[in-house]
Amino acid sequence: MVYEVSDNVNDDEQQSIEERLALAATNGVDTVKANRLFHSFYLFSDVMIDSHLILSMDTNMTARLWSGPTTNSTLLLTSGQTITNGVSVVNGQVVNFATHGQTSEVWLQVLAPGEGSISYGFVGKDDAEGINFTDTLKVNAYREKLYVHISEMAGLTNMPSFNASALAKYDISNVMTQVVAFCADPEVGIGLDIEWVRDDLVFNDQPLKDTNGNILAPNTYRHNGKVHLPGDTNNTIIGSGFLMRDLRVRSLDRDVFNRTYFTGHMLFAQKVLLPSTRRGDLPKHVRLCLIDRIVEIEELDPSVADPSALIVDSHAFASFGASTPFEECGAVVSVVGMAEERNYTAPQFINRLAWVIAHEIGHLIIREQDGNGWIGNHRDSVDTLMANIVASPKGLSDVNADLEEISKINLANKASVQEQ
Ligand SMILES: [Zn+2]
Repeated sequence: MVYEVSDNVNDDEQQSIEERLALAATNGVDTVKANRLFHSFYLFSDVMIDSHLILSMDTNMTARLWSGPTTNSTLLLTSGQTITNGVSVVNGQVVNFATHGQTSEVWLQVLAPGEGSISYGFVGKDDAEGINFTDTLKVNAYREKLYVHISEMAGLTNMPSFNASALAKYDISNVMTQVVAFCADPEVGIGLDIEWVRDDLVFNDQPLKDTNGNILAPNTYRHNGKVHLPGDTNNTIIGSGFLMRDLRVRSLDRDVFNRTYFTGHMLFAQKVLLPSTRRGDLPKHVRLCLIDRIVEIEELDPSVADPSALIVDSHAFASFGASTPFEECGAVVSVVGMAEERNYTAPQFINRLAWVIAHEIGHLIIREQDGNGWIGNHRDSVDTLMANIVASPKGLSDVNADLEEISKINLANKASVQEQ
């Protein structure tokens, strides 16, 4: 607390004044996140001497004070501004915090990291001239940091593709630049700094063996050969993909089949892809795995020597269940599969990829949600980060992460990390 007082006020009077004016954080802390969440403060005064009541915020931080917890409420002041007697200097609207004996709540929105202060006080006038008192609340705003570990298949750009021209523009550094900028954006992002590391995807696939231990196929989890898009078996290219299952060999011993193939993309990621690409020296990083495609071989006739593998329609997903072991959690994005999901132009594909990566990372830090506009971990929305993918925007420039999403982010609860 900082106060000034004239010589003709004795200690008892000063004590009384301090008790009669207050500025306090409603949650009892003075350290806030520099994200778009709104932080509430109480103002109170029942000082009965003739005075001006003054609310101000210094210029050391980039922030706004609002009359309510959303940007639809009245903007009271921005950094460096002052309101006297409840009259907003921004738009002239009278707010009620100057009323004697009344407690008012105001909301702070911090737009960038920094240290600053909010002050509330009175300046005596007329007979009380010279009596001043100011209660100051220091605010130390910081932005939380999310660490991301990306395992990326080498050579994605050069892979054969049904959409080679779009894929040729792929560059993970460029895509992550968009993701990082979006997440830190104080107006539309989620208020996080992201630091990421990448390495080449190392995938130790296992040979497929029969019940006698004889090797039937040396690279069970990789298919290198013909691939086709869903519903178009006649249009094939020579490509590759992670083989989720090979229905030709379903007649294998069931245990061998089950150990070798998994019956869904999520199970494949949980049991094979994510654990095998985890780096033990990055226990605090959430996991993102970038692969080419996930495919499956549909033909049941084992005599087909050169089967065409179907590119499955699951190009981006995340595993983040509360009961799922951390090593089975993470996000998977099929980069080549994404390029081929529609006839994207190169910019559309990159925009789409940036949104998808930010969205899947969002799943890892927001985790399970339902109700209050959430339907099965997605928002009933077309322009938020966690919008349902069917109605999703074309890119991050169309996204405005809202407070419902931001309020759900808790880095102490993120998925796929070993140490919180
Ligand atoms: Zn999703």
